[in-house]
Amino acid sequence: MTCPHCHTEMYQANQRWYCFTCPRYAFPGDGPADIERHEHERQAALVLLDVALGDLAVQRETDRQILSEMEATMGQLIQTRGCSKCGGTMYKIIETDQHGTPTGESPYCCHSCGHME
Ligand SMILES: [Zn+2]
Ligand SMILES: [Zn+2]
Repeated sequence: MTCPHCHTEMYQANQRWYCFTCPRYAFPGDGPADIERHEHERQAALVLLDVALGDLAVQRETDRQILSEMEATMGQLIQTRGCSKCGGTMYKIIETDQHGTPTGESPYCCHSCGHME
């Protein structure tokens, strides 16, 4: 069998004929029109796959944006001030709800000496 597109010999594997130089394939008994139809079906399937993967990529991007918005609105605020013992930087973590209202906070803790207030 010869590929109707490339005019090269096709080889047989798994009950199908495959072209060496292009993605075309044929079932036993297929004519050139059948081979072109298979190729169109294959390309259509690839387009559908592209669309599906594209939707997934968009979905992932949306998820990422929602996550970062949640981090911004439900995340933790960090406040700093000077340490009274060593002069280093003390910090505390303020947890907020989705409205930005503080729901809890840790004591100030010095980054340098570990002093807590
Ligand atoms: Zn070919
Ligand atoms: Zn300190």
